Amino acid sequence: MKKVIIGNWKMNGSHALVDALAAQITPAAELPYTGLVCPPFTLLAYARKTLPASLFVGAQDIAACEKGAFTGDVSGALLADSGATHVLIGHSERRLYHQENETTFSEKIQAALAQGLLPILCVGESHECFDKKETKSFLRAQLHFALPFLKEKAITLAYEPLWAIGTGQTPTLPMIQDVHSFLEGEFGVAPFYGGSVTIQNYQDILALGAVGGLLIGGESLFPEKFALILQGKAL
Ligand code: PEP
Repeated sequence: MKKVIIGNWKMNGSHALVDALAAQITPAAELPYTGLVCPPFTLLAYARKTLPASLFVGAQDIAACEKGAFTGDVSGALLADSGATHVLIGHSERRLYHQENETTFSEKIQAALAQGLLPILCVGESHECFDKKETKSFLRAQLHFALPFLKEKAITLAYEPLWAIGTGQTPTLPMIQDVHSFLEGEFGVAPFYGGSVTIQNYQDILALGAVGGLLIGGESLFPEKFALILQGKAL
């Protein structure tokens, strides 16, 4: 199975950025990885129309409810209609700025599955927890609510240590391998790694056996570098 490269544009991007990425990847290019671009909601349909079919398009969030009077929310049906096939759930920024919790995540996972979207559940520990060497017990507890979904292989996981997101700091390769092996052994999926992945370090991280793919924030906003990563190339 191909490893997965995901670009999370967060609250960034534009039609021009979609165009710039599309210009870097020829429609016929054989990509070594499964590529997924997660732009803001407003760019989903345009990204689907513009990017080569070899790249998937996904959302960064989903409404927990199905439809109706929920101003500002975007349902799974709307995401699917815009061409999205995947959705990030539980990103640390949703946990921090929107106080989302396990109940919400459960509902959002179910909402995604009901529309045939593949949920990517993000988990990760704080620096304090990492320093105390409590990462594994923290992750086990953080994933407890998701056990039924994991058992059915209905979701995939992204391991993103909070202290590595957007900081330029990453765990060492043996540390990443250790946590990913733990997650794979415990939950049966090879998680994606996220946190300060760059054009310089992505190949080494992706080469680790228990790393199923990469979730890339900041670096995915540079179309030339992100396109090189999607094509398995170096600078
Ligand atoms: C993220 O926000 O999911 C992320 C991994 O960001 P960055 O690559 O910028 O650390």
